[in-house]
Amino acid sequence: MKALQNIFHAAGFGKVAPWVDLANSQEWNGFGKLTDHLTNSRWLATFLKHWNLHPLPSKNVPRRKLVHLRFLLRRAAEKLAAGGSLDPREISKVNQVLNVPVWQKLVQDQNGIRAEMVPVRSDWNWVIARIAASLGEMLANHEVERIKVCANSDCRWVFRDPTKAKTKRWCNDRTCGNRARVRRARAAQKQRA
Ligand SMILES: [Zn+2]
Repeated sequence: MKALQNIFHAAGFGKVAPWVDLANSQEWNGFGKLTDHLTNSRWLATFLKHWNLHPLPSKNVPRRKLVHLRFLLRRAAEKLAAGGSLDPREISKVNQVLNVPVWQKLVQDQNGIRAEMVPVRSDWNWVIARIAASLGEMLANHEVERIKVCANSDCRWVFRDPTKAKTKRWCNDRTCGNRARVRRARAAQKQRA
C-alpha cells in the first residue's frame, strides 16, 4: 500500500481534479526525464480509486482513448494557464467524450432524498466522461482561472494556484522555484564577471 501511496499521492497527484491528474500523468521530472504513468496499472488503479471512479473496469484499458483525452486536457491546461480559452472544436471534442447514457435515480438516506446521475453502463466510456466532466465543472464555475502550468520548461506540471493574487509560478517553490532562482543568480554572476 505504501508503494501505491508514493507513486500517486507523494508525487502530487490527487489534489485538484481527475482531469488535472490525467494531464499530469505524462510527467517530466524537471530534468528532462519523462514518466508515462498511464502505462503503470498500479498508478491507474490508485487514480480511479482516489477519485471514486471505481468499481473500476480493470480489464481492457482503452489506452489510446486515454492518451487522446490526455492530449486534449494538456492543451486545455496550457491554454487556460496562459489566459486563453477552449475553441469550439475543443469544446466539441469534450462534448463527444461526455456523450454517455445516464439515468437519474432517486436515492434515500438519513438526509432525505437526492437525485443521482447513474451510468447506464459502468464502463470505461463512463470513467472517461467523468474525467472530462471534471474539466467541464471547473470551466463552468470559473475555477480554471486558478489553473497554472509550472514555469519550469522541464517540468510543466499542471497545478491549482491557491494564492489570492494568483501569482504562483512554480509547482513547487523548493524544487522548480529554487532552480529558477539559482539559474538567475548564475546568469547575474556571469554578467558581472
Ligand atoms: Zn515544476
